[in-house]
Amino acid sequence: MEQAAIELWGIKKRFGELEVIKGIDLAARRGEVIALIGTSGSGKSTLLRCINLLEEPDDGEIIFDGEALDLKRGRDGTLHPANREQITRLRAGIGFVFQNFNLWPHMTVLENVIEAPVHVLGIPRKRAIAEAETLLDKVGLAEKQRTYPAFLSGGQQQRAAIARTLAMHPAVILLDEPTSALDPELVGEVLGVIRQLADEGRTMLIVTHEMRFARDVAHRVVFLDAGRIEEEGPPSRVFGNPHSERCRAFLATHL
Ligand code: ADP
Ligand code: MG
Repeated sequence: MEQAAIELWGIKKRFGELEVIKGIDLAARRGEVIALIGTSGSGKSTLLRCINLLEEPDDGEIIFDGEALDLKRGRDGTLHPANREQITRLRAGIGFVFQNFNLWPHMTVLENVIEAPVHVLGIPRKRAIAEAETLLDKVGLAEKQRTYPAFLSGGQQQRAAIARTLAMHPAVILLDEPTSALDPELVGEVLGVIRQLADEGRTMLIVTHEMRFARDVAHRVVFLDAGRIEEEGPPSRVFGNPHSERCRAFLATHL
């Protein structure tokens, strides 16, 4: 079988007494777009954050770039130190787009985009700037390079955030409700950019409530319920004929 872009096996995460992710297996093929859907509190954000270790899972395995990262804890509750270097590679290779953009407010758009390539990847500043200019052009922000985030619309900020993510050449891009914070009239321009990334064959996991977008762009829909995958399949099948009662009920109120 062709190697997956990323595989998750038996991922678990709890916050105190609350088990939020209850053993999730999920693999994304290269170029696959997976839409993660589910009610508020079902664990979508936590799962996404576990994938690039913004949250450290309590158990399970992540296989990224042919390397297995064992997430079992030692007796002291910490990850094995030998995994630290691997974790750094994984974090650099998996991009994350946040609901609230999370641009650095004290930096211009261009500075936001070149920051990590220069300081994390060690790309020479001149080359990073040239790449950033290409990326900002691609997301329609060529004119906004020297602008600070506060002077951009939400849609422009999110497109800048996407350019910033792309500048790291991520093998996988995670997007957590990238259009939920936007005024309705700005949603389309951001979905347009994400659709373009899908067309380029990028591997993406996207948490979204935009069901029409999920239906049109995703190759697979995964419905999360109470920390478990309750249903998954091609959008046409999941939306057209959901097997699970909970998925059916969710779609009845969200489609
Ligand atoms: P979703 O993104 O599907 O709305 P989340 O992953 O944000 O769901 O949250 C799942 C559950 O985990 C919720 O009950 C939420 O309150 C809880 N949770 C999320 N993050 C934390 C945290 N850092 N500490 C404690 N509980 C959390
Ligand atoms: Mg969430």
